[in-house]
Amino acid sequence: MVDIKVLDKNKEKISLIVKNTNSVFINTLRRMIMEEVPTLAIEDVKFIENSSALYDEMIAHRLGLVALKTDLKSYDIKKKGKGSKVFTELTFKLKAKGPGNVYAEEIKFKDPKVKAVYPKTLIAKLLKGQNLNIEGTAILGIGKDHTKFSPGLVYFHGYPNIEIIKPMVATGAVKVCPKHVFRLANKKLEVVDLLKCDLCMACVNELPEAIKVEGSKKDFIVNIESWGQLKAKEMVQYAIELLNDKLDEFGKLIK
Ligand code: SF4
Repeated sequence: MVDIKVLDKNKEKISLIVKNTNSVFINTLRRMIMEEVPTLAIEDVKFIENSSALYDEMIAHRLGLVALKTDLKSYDIKKKGKGSKVFTELTFKLKAKGPGNVYAEEIKFKDPKVKAVYPKTLIAKLLKGQNLNIEGTAILGIGKDHTKFSPGLVYFHGYPNIEIIKPMVATGAVKVCPKHVFRLANKKLEVVDLLKCDLCMACVNELPEAIKVEGSKKDFIVNIESWGQLKAKEMVQYAIELLNDKLDEFGKLIK
């Protein structure tokens, strides 16, 4: 049975030890989170006025990449079907007069709950007499369609297994290891923080006769980092629900 232990957890990042599984399952979860958990992003932009030094296309591109707070409970996603491209549309306006910087916090959405995750994301710099007047829409979408919708980054590696074959010879690993996994005790090398090892193999390359490092094929350290649109925990929960739905669907089709 799969065994999960939380190593570290906050709003932006969760680190887990997942045991008794395989890389196919972990990679499926990774792809579900990065490619199928929906978030909001600006999709269509109409320029009423742009007298800034930037082309319309450049400003539209910058607006598209603004991370937006997404409250998935607000949208009736299940009814419309998870995984569909467009779930909802939200209009916004952006008006600014120079001189001064235009930041993402100045984008005003019809739904006041929708805001830029990082309010000081710079959109443009206006000189005296330059203006911006923009209207447009944000939509819910998924990373599979465009990476701007991806809610974060998920990466994993096998649970490290370090074997110190020659503790008196391998002392150089203390200096080589960038993660400070080792320490010296009575001139012998010992592992002090195994979980910090990310299998970079720097110690093995330096001292191939003295140290052996391997990543497990059934136990993994999994890291889930949010870009800010959703909490890391929400990303995992939604992806698991989605995977369950897909498996149910698959089961029905098989029958
Ligand atoms: S594999 Fe890399 S991180 Fe792990 S112990 Fe060796 S040097 Fe350190």
